[in-house]
Amino acid sequence: MHATPGSAVEREILRPLWKVHILHHAGESAIVGNWMLEELREHGYRVSPGTLYPMLARMTRTGWLQKNKSGRYRLTAAGRRALAEVRARLAELQIEVFRPRPKAAKPPRP
Ligand SMILES: [Zn+2]
Repeated sequence: MHATPGSAVEREILRPLWKVHILHHAGESAIVGNWMLEELREHGYRVSPGTLYPMLARMTRTGWLQKNKSGRYRLTAAGRRALAEVRARLAELQIEVFRPRPKAAKPPRP
């Protein structure tokens, strides 16, 4: 599924979700920026290095990621806590947003 490039949905909602992918994957094993770029593109996000690398740098400054000498990013303890919090929120949101709506009560028979 592709959002309209440059749309408000992409900018305001989808782009911040990249960080969830990044936290998730960095928690599985150390990642390099290029791999993350490809991974996000496979999910259908339009990602450029000019957006991804500053995001990785910001997440490192925030303390969620640690960059090692070979340029790989891995999740820190703070990143793990952030991911756990986001997971809980997403699970709750998912239940609410995808829950089938209760059917309207049938009108009483005449
Ligand atoms: Zn992913």
